[in-house]
Amino acid sequence: MSAVRPTGEEAYRNGANPFVPAAHRVVAGSRLTRRHVLSADVCVIGSGAGGAPAAKELAEGGMRVVMLEEGEWWSSDAFTARPREMMPRLYREGGHTVTLGTPPLLLPLGKAIGGTTLINSGTCFRTPPRVLERWRREDGLQELTPEELDPYFRRVERELNVSRVPASLAGHNCEVIRRGAERLGWSGGYMYRNVRGCIGSGVCAYGCPSGAKQHTGITYIARAWASGATTFTGTRATGLESAGGHVRGVLARTAGGGRLRVRCERVIVAAGTLHTPPLLRRFGVRSAVLGRGLSIHPATVVRARLDEDVNLWDGVPQSYYIDEFAGEGVMLEGIAGPPDYLAVSTPRRGAEHRELMLDARRAATFGVMVSDSSRGRVLSVGGRPVIRYDLGEVDAQRFKRGLLALAELYWAAGAREVIVPVQGVPTLRDGDSRPLQRHPVPPASLKAMAFHPLGTARAGADPARSVVDPDLAVRGLSGLHVCDGSVMPSSLGVNPQITIMTLATRLAFNLLGRKAPEHEPHPEHIA
Ligand SMILES: Cc1cc2nc3c(=O)[nH]c(=O)nc-3n(C[C@H](O)[C@H](O)[C@H](O)COP(=O)(O)OP(=O)(O)OC[C@H]3O[C@@H](n4cnc5c(N)ncnc54)[C@H](O)[C@@H]3O)c2cc1C
Ligand code: SF4
Repeated sequence: MSAVRPTGEEAYRNGANPFVPAAHRVVAGSRLTRRHVLSADVCVIGSGAGGAPAAKELAEGGMRVVMLEEGEWWSSDAFTARPREMMPRLYREGGHTVTLGTPPLLLPLGKAIGGTTLINSGTCFRTPPRVLERWRREDGLQELTPEELDPYFRRVERELNVSRVPASLAGHNCEVIRRGAERLGWSGGYMYRNVRGCIGSGVCAYGCPSGAKQHTGITYIARAWASGATTFTGTRATGLESAGGHVRGVLARTAGGGRLRVRCERVIVAAGTLHTPPLLRRFGVRSAVLGRGLSIHPATVVRARLDEDVNLWDGVPQSYYIDEFAGEGVMLEGIAGPPDYLAVSTPRRGAEHRELMLDARRAATFGVMVSDSSRGRVLSVGGRPVIRYDLGEVDAQRFKRGLLALAELYWAAGAREVIVPVQGVPTLRDGDSRPLQRHPVPPASLKAMAFHPLGTARAGADPARSVVDPDLAVRGLSGLHVCDGSVMPSSLGVNPQITIMTLATRLAFNLLGRKAPEHEPHPEHIA
């Protein structure tokens, strides 16, 4: 029996001895103005949840690894906690990536070393067994059982110190929800998160200034550097070299106007669900399902007004979840942030908005996330993604279910008013949800966002329904693999980073010909 890894308050709060690599092996693409050629065993494209674990494991396994990342390297000292300053630096398009369709949805992505893990909320869930069962049954991913994946989950969770938010850091915003859930007897709990020394400063989405959030830039990438890997930042992969049905190298452009050629026999694409399909098309991959099957976990936020101070900017923003309705495709998860966040997420205008913001101290917010059955598509225009996604009626009804549940929770917790993001529904007052209950909620009436794009280069046994095979290899071209959110065959119903990292770790172990890491410690508890 392997050792047990603590996941309680001490593990969560303890920030001592962070891993610091002897050297930051970063080459800034902005400084590369000419043609450069180098050789490696493997080139990894993208440094987020998929690319970073693969790069680290392969480098530790003795391979010469080169990573290409379009974004830049940021240290925690550069994070000011001000959304207006950080979003243009850390997010692609300043956080304004939008879907075309009904309703249009904001779909923010990170662009930096660490990818979207740099700006995510740090919530960690293993893949639900019912999802793995579906992948085995419908997609032929026979090996993906909870037992097979368990050692890889344990390894990822140890690398990231996944531990549970203590009540003392969860913030009053979450305590309001917990109070309501306890009164109603609904299932939920404090989140497990990838942190080391979290102080509950509440700005995870704008770069963690204390370096507590264990995003891949300070965990996996740092360890990859320690094993000799190099990251080229400001460097965008644009093409592939191949001969005789085998990969021979990657071509890239640098921010300095230069060109880079990485000679290698293996390429791992982890550019993310939206950027991997255009890149694979440039690489010559021709699959009828490439770019299709996009799921996004559409989400929205409910705001309540209470008679007590909430101060939702204090504490961990995503510290609590309610999974009472997970079986119906609805998760309720914490969402909070500084006053700027509250201002943009309040679906009111003019004098009413002003009046609500003047009472910001007593505002509470919580999120509804839908495990979508709607599917979108990523098209390529000039090599860049264009995202088409229409929310279906079934998912709109799931939203309604989630919004009514949150209203009920807030009433149980003692809220005076509840504001739901549905056009035409007035502010709900005095425990009365009937205006929402009676109101139709067509997709076009919802104000929503999405944070988890998945599924555009899905894995599967059937070549007609998948882009990569069950080993995450692109068919028809040996040496090319994909290991980011795009390979997920379906929506997960939970936040995806641990699933993506686990499949990437497993891919690296398979490429190295290694057995599963059975020695990894078992977590004391896990979600
Ligand atoms: C605000 C927010 C909060 C979230 N919170 C959570 C959470 O709490 N828990 C959770 O599990 N998930 C969360 N997520 C989602 C999670 O972070 C992502 O699902 C995950 O990071 C996706 O991993 P990936 O490897 O597919 O892509 P990414 O992590 O996005 O990495 C892709 C990288 O590839 C780079 N790239 C793209 N194209 C190229 C190219 N041509 N050349 C070189 N580099 C390229 C990009 O710049 C990027 O850095 C959140 C997302 C957002 C936006
Ligand atoms: S709550 Fe603050 S300290 Fe904790 S992970 Fe988020 S930004 Fe970092």
